[in-house]
Amino acid sequence: MHTVSRPDTATILRNVPRIGETVPMFVGGRWELAASGATRAIVNPADNRTIAQVADGDAADAARAIAAARRAFDDGPWTALAASDRAMLLFRLADAIDAAREEFVHIDTLNNGKPLRESEYDVIDAANCFRYYAGLATKPHGQTFDVPAPSQTFTVREPIGVCGQIVPWNYPLLMAVWKLAPALAAGNVCVLKPAETTPLSALRLATLIEALEFPPGVVNIVPGAGQTAGHELAASALVDKVAFTGGTVTGRSVMHAAAGNLKKISLELGGKSPNIVFADADFETAIDYALFGIYANAGQVCSAGSRLILQKSLHDRFVDRLVERAQKIRVGDGFDPRTEMGPLISPIQRERVENYLAIGREEGATLRCGGERLGGALADGNFLSPAIFDRTTPTMRIVQEEIFGPVLVVQAFDDEADAIRLANDSPYGLAGAVFTQDVAKAHRVIRKLRAGITWINTYHPTYNEAPWGGYKQSGIGRELGTYGYDAYTEVKQINVNLDVAPSGWFSP
Ligand code: NAD
Repeated sequence: MHTVSRPDTATILRNVPRIGETVPMFVGGRWELAASGATRAIVNPADNRTIAQVADGDAADAARAIAAARRAFDDGPWTALAASDRAMLLFRLADAIDAAREEFVHIDTLNNGKPLRESEYDVIDAANCFRYYAGLATKPHGQTFDVPAPSQTFTVREPIGVCGQIVPWNYPLLMAVWKLAPALAAGNVCVLKPAETTPLSALRLATLIEALEFPPGVVNIVPGAGQTAGHELAASALVDKVAFTGGTVTGRSVMHAAAGNLKKISLELGGKSPNIVFADADFETAIDYALFGIYANAGQVCSAGSRLILQKSLHDRFVDRLVERAQKIRVGDGFDPRTEMGPLISPIQRERVENYLAIGREEGATLRCGGERLGGALADGNFLSPAIFDRTTPTMRIVQEEIFGPVLVVQAFDDEADAIRLANDSPYGLAGAVFTQDVAKAHRVIRKLRAGITWINTYHPTYNEAPWGGYKQSGIGRELGTYGYDAYTEVKQINVNLDVAPSGWFSP
């Protein structure tokens, strides 16, 4: 049997701070345990063995971090820093991530289970995200307006203030950076809560932030439970903005909690994204991206191409080939360089996915392959083989609901109008793709999709430069690109009277 040579856990986590045996949280520039003393066992999803004990923050810890952030924003040196100085710090942070690239890659693979090549992509992208926003910090952001004399009118963008940021576990480092980079570039201060299961790379990032001497309280990282620490970030009257990435149900509760002080809100939520393949598509390219669209990160991707919508004349040949290819995907430990797909994040997540496999069968869909637990050396991990459901109908739960695992559902269409109707028949609207060699048809279909991120003849490429977010119940607002920066700013209108004299409106 092939054994995986993984660096030992202590080596991978050598630079993650400890107080005693516990990885602490980063609050107000200091490393602290949870006020309650609680800790949470963090495990490797490839074998469910404990890799660290992390301070388990609750509402009190989040409140302490919010207070530290408040002081940093209201009284600290941060808001007086020139944009170019903030930019320089972020450029240095990007360089520091690059310098520790292999370490970050190992931390995310150890903690999330994803294959090394996926973690490497994330870490490179994370450094570049800081660079992109460092560059944007010094670019012009205001507008001037040609209004009647004697007024001169223009706008400036100012930071919103204290930002509560809540992220999921599927891209532990990258999701944290998508939140921190634009917020810091725009001059805000942050309290970030990583997902319960995957706090380690965000905490390692905090050590770089500490070493670069960001003013205390500008970045706070509070690991802990969503319903306590996360809820406090959403509800606190001292928080000016909450940015959340996660499930749609949780997003709704964050929105309720945020209503108390009408804080600014960004939500990046779930999806059930359509991937439409026409009969005239380049066959092998469409097969390749259909696989990548659903099985990258074991399907635990908000924008996954989880509904494959196939033209009927192509259907049988395409599904046969897809099944053949899916069965060849090498599922395994992320540290094995041969691994193409890792485990699911937790036993609970695997059970959720298995529950959908049972639902799909009960609903009468045909499971063409996969959905099996892996045995042997992988028996202790949360592995599941790539699954494909065919012969579905649009109202089935497996077609309507986000599964968030390696399960593809196939739908079939007659013509263009039919394809568009099926694609948009969803409460979600995050992403979508179309494969065809007919350029005009590709554009027609994309323009009809009710989705925020779309691709033609490709699936999944994501760019720091371009906006990310969903229509319908996939979210509110956009991250990344200039849109992501703007979402961390308030716009101030400034009017200057160029003729300083009484107006004479009221008699003297
Ligand atoms: P989740 O909603 O359970 O958790 C996300 C985060 O919210 C975690 O940090 C969690 O602790 C926190 N949280 C949970 N309950 C909370 C509450 N009541 N108040 C405040 N915070 C709370 O989601 P998950 O299972 O960790 O992640 C999977 C989901 O995330 C999927 O639905 C996926 O589509 C979505 N996602 C979306 C994007 C995007 O950009 N649109 C990206 C990645 C993941």
